[in-house]
Amino acid sequence: MKAAVYEGANDIQVKEVPEPQIGPADVLVKPKYVGICGTDLSAWEYGMYEGGLIMGHEFTGEVVDVGENVSKWKKGDRVVPNSLIPCAKCSFCSRKKHSLCEDMQMVGISINGGLAELVALPETVLHRLPDSLDYKTGVFVEPLSIVVRGFSRTSFAPGENVLVLGTGPIGLLSIRLARIKGASAIYASEIKRARLEMAERLGIDAGINAKEEAVSLRVESFTNGMGVDLVVECTGAPGPTAEAFQLVKRGGTILVLGISEEPVEADFMTGVLNELNVQFSYLGFAEFPEAIALLESRRIDPTPFITKVIPLDQVVEEGFEALTHPDSNEVKVLVEI
Ligand SMILES: [Zn+2]
Ligand SMILES: [Zn+2]
Repeated sequence: MKAAVYEGANDIQVKEVPEPQIGPADVLVKPKYVGICGTDLSAWEYGMYEGGLIMGHEFTGEVVDVGENVSKWKKGDRVVPNSLIPCAKCSFCSRKKHSLCEDMQMVGISINGGLAELVALPETVLHRLPDSLDYKTGVFVEPLSIVVRGFSRTSFAPGENVLVLGTGPIGLLSIRLARIKGASAIYASEIKRARLEMAERLGIDAGINAKEEAVSLRVESFTNGMGVDLVVECTGAPGPTAEAFQLVKRGGTILVLGISEEPVEADFMTGVLNELNVQFSYLGFAEFPEAIALLESRRIDPTPFITKVIPLDQVVEEGFEALTHPDSNEVKVLVEI
């Protein structure tokens, strides 16, 4: 079968590989659409995954075969896998803190993922994709689960205002979720014009072009110098993450969803004096059903975030190279398998 195999930084090869074999508790899935995510781009740029890995951790697909002990799934079922496979044995798993699992596997990151014509997955990681949810929209279940989890770890309440730093897919989903959760005002900053315009089309109260304007001055003017109740950091860049301490209201919260490769300098003095809350959050797991329900209800419609759908053969040129180009206007690129 054909697959996109990660061989190292700046080296992904689409090539023929053996078809995966399923164990008794596994399901063989034919991926339909696979999203390329920021983590994949970091691996492409910095070389984070092991060589020989088939990438792809946010995807939808159809069941084509099941192991002998699998009773929940059958051929033809539409599924969306959770990218996190917890060990189910460690102290964190036993307390349902699955994203902290000490021995987790991650589909498309530590074990073979969806950028292939077939993928074998444990039956336990699959969720049913409702018939009313198309395969493209279903790709957003995984990133939305991250945002749902992040918000649930804060004390965000209706009537509070929000600033989203970085309007890539996670930032855009954060804007929509903040709206649903009753934000009084939503501001967003972004350095790429196309991404900022997409945020503005979602009906934010103000967009800030962080390349041309001082984010802190704009936020000051929007909030009468108070700062916002919640900053959602989705850039994964050290500069904006550090600046969040100057943008948040006294007693407010910084929710960090972006993953910065570089250490971030933090103004802990302001943090203490203003009694700030800094909440980090990683992967969704238990949040999958809520993410599916939000998409199914159309309260969050991520289809405008899909700027391009490409074939597997084009995943390097039209996917990874295009997305990491400094002038890229892409937001979410899907690979059609
Ligand atoms: Zn991801
Ligand atoms: Zn565990």
